[in-house]
Amino acid sequence: MAEKPHLPVPSEEEQERRRFHMVEEDLAGRDIDDEAVLDAMRSVPRHLFVPERLRDRAYCDGPLPIGEGQTISQPYVVASMTQLLELAPSSKVLEIGTGSGYQAAVLAEIAAEVYSVEVIPELYGATTRLLRELGYSNVHVTLGDGFHGWPEKAPFDGIIITAAAPRIPEQLIEQLRVGRHMVLPVVTMAGWTQQLQRVTRTAKGYTVQKLYDVRFVPMRGEIDRRQQ
Ligand code: SAH
Repeated sequence: MAEKPHLPVPSEEEQERRRFHMVEEDLAGRDIDDEAVLDAMRSVPRHLFVPERLRDRAYCDGPLPIGEGQTISQPYVVASMTQLLELAPSSKVLEIGTGSGYQAAVLAEIAAEVYSVEVIPELYGATTRLLRELGYSNVHVTLGDGFHGWPEKAPFDGIIITAAAPRIPEQLIEQLRVGRHMVLPVVTMAGWTQQLQRVTRTAKGYTVQKLYDVRFVPMRGEIDRRQQ
């Protein structure tokens, strides 16, 4: 079989031009209006978070494979979930599903500290190295099942789950401050669609806001084995 000709690798300037264009068209051009989120999306070099052979597609508004059967989310969804968290510069955020580290880097541009849990050792290793190389010293990654959250670092001013949960993991709400949000994809009753939901902790329990349909890789681990 003939080898595919190599595409020319876009220059850093070209990647930045594409990134700014994506932010204007696909984010600001839709309903992303939080300036801190737009600035973060302009700052984080998404092309460095995807495999080298896919760098040419880094600023198309779609998910891309990152190895181990996992994906980096679509930029619009990353921006939208981040906006829904309503973070402040002093916020401490928990992410479940570090993956490529891209979402964590976006959060780190906005919040003070980001704690992220990844369950696949290969991704944990590669991403920890990348985030260190890029200077994201306020992102802290641990290897483990995010079902348990990161209780030693709680309470959080926001929690984001970037893999689809079969139901709302209620024990994570205990690690959230009252009045703050957890944003996550939840598999619907029928089982073949997922819905983005925003859970807000209240003094007595929590409320749920149902947003739009999304497509994430499934959350693994104990959540599958345990009933609430
Ligand atoms: N936020 C990531 C998206 C990665 S895809 C990014 O920006 O690239 C989802 C990730 O969730 C995968 O890396 C997967 O291994 C991880 N994951 C799935 N179940 C998990 C669990 N129970 N605990 C922690 N991470 C989990």
